[in-house]
Amino acid sequence: MSNKVIIFSAPSGAGKSTIVNHILGLHPELEFSISATSRAPRGQEQHGVEYYFFTAEEFRQMIAQDMFVEHEEVYPGSFYGTLKSEVERIWAKGHTIVFDIDVQGGVNLKRIFGDQAFSILIQAPSVEVLRQRLVGRGTDTEEAIEKRVAKAASEMEFAAGKFDHVLVNDDLQTAFAEAEDIVSGFLTKA
Ligand code: 5GP
Repeated sequence: MSNKVIIFSAPSGAGKSTIVNHILGLHPELEFSISATSRAPRGQEQHGVEYYFFTAEEFRQMIAQDMFVEHEEVYPGSFYGTLKSEVERIWAKGHTIVFDIDVQGGVNLKRIFGDQAFSILIQAPSVEVLRQRLVGRGTDTEEAIEKRVAKAASEMEFAAGKFDHVLVNDDLQTAFAEAEDIVSGFLTKA
């Protein structure tokens, strides 16, 4: 099968980006899908690298012109979405698209791409472990941690049964190996 996509989704704190970056480093035929967003660039972020940056007005016009595969207002006033042109750009090279996207977006993409897609939900071993990881990181207040934990718990409930594979990120090396197995299996499938 050509024109494949691999979708990685996770509630916050599950270690998704670490696993996605590891997998991208192993397979040159995989290419990360750069999303469009209306949020402002953070730090060193550049247009066309981490995201394609647009104003909210530009983003709304692009929605009206039906330029997105999917889009979502992830935070009030902040739009995120996958451009049809991005999908075409990557497939034109014969590459498989990798999405790193929130749980809702992942479910939407799986519905859109069907059998062309393999969707992987990455989870912390339990809500308690997730809480401990966020506490250990020391970057959030107690209140912020409780909010993130509550959001993660409701996302996990929403996600149940909606992904092709659930990868529990307990030990990182084990999670890398499991992700490699699944991705290689999908890439070699006819
Ligand atoms: P951040 O602003 O921290 O980079 O991303 C915020 C959230 O937007 C993350 O949960 C990320 O997964 C989600 N996101 C990034 N790109 C897309 C996209 O193309 N579509 C959707 N639905 N969500 C996205």
